[in-house]
Amino acid sequence: VHPTSVNRGAPIVVHSSNTVYSPEHITAKFENRGADVVKDAQGVLHVTPTSTAYEIRTERKVPKTGLMMVGWGGNNGTTLTATILANRHQIHWSTKRGVEVPNYMGSLVRASTMRIGTDPTTGKDFNVPISDVLPMVHPNDLVLGGWDISGAPLDHAMRRAEVLDYDLQRQVAPLMAHMKPLRSIYYPDFIAANQEERADNLIPGEDKQAHLEQLRKDIREFKVKHSLDRVVVFWTANTERYADIIEGVNDTSANLLKAIKSSHPEVSPSTVFAVAAILEGCPFINGAPQNTFVPGCIQLAEEHKSFIAGDDLKTGQTKVKSVLAEFLTNAGIKMLSIASYNHLGNNDGRNLSAERQFKSKEISKRSVVDDMVESNPLLFKPAVNSVTADGKKVHEDGEHPDHIVVIKYVPAVGDSKRAIDEYHSELMMGGRNTLNIFNECEDSLLASPLILDLTILAELFTRVEYRPANKDAEYKSLYPVLSLLSYMLKAPLVKPGHDVVNSLGRQRNAIEGFFKACLGLENLGDVLLESRIW
Ligand code: NAD
Repeated sequence: VHPTSVNRGAPIVVHSSNTVYSPEHITAKFENRGADVVKDAQGVLHVTPTSTAYEIRTERKVPKTGLMMVGWGGNNGTTLTATILANRHQIHWSTKRGVEVPNYMGSLVRASTMRIGTDPTTGKDFNVPISDVLPMVHPNDLVLGGWDISGAPLDHAMRRAEVLDYDLQRQVAPLMAHMKPLRSIYYPDFIAANQEERADNLIPGEDKQAHLEQLRKDIREFKVKHSLDRVVVFWTANTERYADIIEGVNDTSANLLKAIKSSHPEVSPSTVFAVAAILEGCPFINGAPQNTFVPGCIQLAEEHKSFIAGDDLKTGQTKVKSVLAEFLTNAGIKMLSIASYNHLGNNDGRNLSAERQFKSKEISKRSVVDDMVESNPLLFKPAVNSVTADGKKVHEDGEHPDHIVVIKYVPAVGDSKRAIDEYHSELMMGGRNTLNIFNECEDSLLASPLILDLTILAELFTRVEYRPANKDAEYKSLYPVLSLLSYMLKAPLVKPGHDVVNSLGRQRNAIEGFFKACLGLENLGDVLLESRIW
């Protein structure tokens, strides 16, 4: 066993024949356990446990990593930049509450822990910071850059965002004044018309192929300039309208590349950015709700084995919804309706006040309870697909709670978003239960730590490889769609043909379980047999 150290990687050493440390890798044996379930003609369920052995290895060296944000001059981009600078330079600032110190609260990686076992002397749980479990990039070490259609330097853009306290802004501003977003691409049809006045920092021309090449060049130059091993590209720009999926245009990777060459109007800026990142081998994460990952884009990521993740950051309201919907459904209480109202006054809200951009957000916010509802046919009648005697296929929709989402732009409240949710449910014997939640939160202060988590975890997953155990097979990288990042995403993109998991608990469990697998540890679960037996 090579003991680890803080600068080499995680300060955890696993003592097991399943876990091998070399200077380069942590290699662990992992049994992927499941169960096959088959229903026979009499309706009996036949369950057979399954188990497949893998070896998972994680590269230990943490690479020098850059984060390039698209929409760097926006509320999230500037808030995250100022936060990292304040942490890096240990800037303290005064507010009416006293002196504040920088932190990364709200980040799963930097501000939460997971249970790795029990202290044998006390029998108490042993929790460790998630950032210590495997070697991960520290946010303070990220090299920041990016693009924006608004050319305001970051100090101005931070003031425009009106998120951070004045005394903090005052101190970080000099560190941000020299940060100027790279010129970007602006196809007015994709974002709200009210954004046009910001668009003063554009790559000239209308040729999408030339745009793609410029973005690729930007990534390469950024990498060289800062001697980076890895760059993550992150869409935190305005929400775009959905792109139409058109046969011959964006349905396959070849067609998508052709459509960019011919500057087809249905190729969105976010898709051009995603393609640029994929072709440069950089993970691309979509923090907004639009369908950046058209089928051709996903296929391109598969072909290049380049990582992608999305869609839309899961911050306040949806995070609570994915907990409450699970709680109610698992408690056997039947949700009849969910009504969600939001109002916010930042530039995101302004953009979302346009119908087509709102539509993208509405779709991503509404999908969040689907898997919970489908998991419980005792409460919700499932969809039925049948064939009539004369061979006609009949589809009956499954039962679903009524679910509406309303978003309004109210400039006065700025970045402090208000979300009001009513959950109306059916109880035993015809009873009713109504839960009302009023959620007020500073939007960008919830979103920024998620950008960090997504970046840090996406980078980590580029260093994880697997192969079947006990065979001399080649190690392979993970599947390009990083659904392990679902915890941070409102409408998680998953491997085509696989179920989306929206439950926040299951999403977190997936991350913890996977980390443990990388270390050769069992996912402990909550059986806690020792505390249940004599
Ligand atoms: P914002 O409007 O303050 O920032 C977006 C920035 O993107 C602006 O500076 C704008 O000029 C820039 N931009 C627009 N089109 C661009 C392009 N083609 N290329 C480069 N830059 C471009 O918004 P925000 O509050 O920072 O949110 C960013 C995104 O994250 C939005 O899509 C929002 O819906 C999404 N999001 C935010 C939250 C949150 O809690 N803040 C949660 C989930 C999702």
